[in-house]
Amino acid sequence: MTTGIRKHGVHAAEPVTDGLDASVLDKVGNTPLVKLEALGRGLGSTIHIKLESENPGGSIKDRTALSMVRAAEKSGELKPGATIVESTSGNTGIGLALIGHLTGHPVVVVTGDTISEEKLAALHNYGARVILTDWNAPSESPENARAVAARITAETAGAWRPMQFDNPANPAAHYETTGPEIWEQTGGLVTHFVAGIGTGGTISGNGRFLKEQAARRPGGHVEVVGADPYGSAYSGGHPGEILVDGVGNSWPEPEWPKAFNRAIVDRFLRIPNDEVYTTVHRLLDEEGLALGPSSGLAVAAAIRVARAAAHGSVVVAIAPDAGTNYMSKAFNPVWLAEHGIRLAADTPAARE
Ligand code: PMP
Repeated sequence: MTTGIRKHGVHAAEPVTDGLDASVLDKVGNTPLVKLEALGRGLGSTIHIKLESENPGGSIKDRTALSMVRAAEKSGELKPGATIVESTSGNTGIGLALIGHLTGHPVVVVTGDTISEEKLAALHNYGARVILTDWNAPSESPENARAVAARITAETAGAWRPMQFDNPANPAAHYETTGPEIWEQTGGLVTHFVAGIGTGGTISGNGRFLKEQAARRPGGHVEVVGADPYGSAYSGGHPGEILVDGVGNSWPEPEWPKAFNRAIVDRFLRIPNDEVYTTVHRLLDEEGLALGPSSGLAVAAAIRVARAAAHGSVVVAIAPDAGTNYMSKAFNPVWLAEHGIRLAADTPAARE
């Protein structure tokens, strides 16, 4: 793995550079903000999405992974060449695998057997060792992903576990980068922020930053809306099967991640799976954007928010990753049918 260091000349702790000196890890963040012309039409407010698929590893989790690795290198918890072990539904693992590959850290990812083929391939491409577990195994089971990750960490000399669900460097990544980018890209005009919640790092870090900025202006306020899938306990629903990758939580509130600051969320919107996946297909058909299901979730919620908000509101939604990771799921009619998902009749995919 040391070849990665020599080849790329990068170390995660090095300061960010730009221009001709910028390397791959310097290109984490600074993603585009795009206005939804078709899906936002006639709502009285505008919808803008932050295209996190533009990060080098393909998702918003590159920011989290880099932030956690930099903090651990700085504190000395992560020594040069030490192994990184994490349990993750996929994207954090991909971010860690990319960073580990470039900075000389072997990476072990413990993930669920429901992970998409495409994400699994990305993990293997970056040289990560992948261990598949039963994602629904209870916390007391030895098969539970976190238990497996803890075991491997204990057995591997010098290994470090980022623990993204509890790591303050996770929400800090968004407080320090994503939030300031949104504030600048909207010229401080953002009125609503919408995101799904997995670890809660995205909504907590962005929400706190945007609320603090808005509060500096007389009467200024940013409403933070949590978009939640059916089956998730965040929005108070009955825990059940969650069909949107990377978001939702089956556990009751005392077990919610420390990375999630519940007080930042003003309200939750629970979005039915049919609406989530119809929105994924509308984003492709009407905007030319192939995005993942958690982007469909956030945009579906943003449409509801924009329709009900005061005229001229500026609604920003997070699009965490690209649809290319889900060709075998969200864009596969067989998978959709097997999971009882019906697209609205006016999407081309539903007419086929
Ligand atoms: N969408 C996808 C595809 C993800 O992988 C994640 C991270 N689990 C999220 C949304 C939620 O982000 P966060 O963990 O910051 O709440």
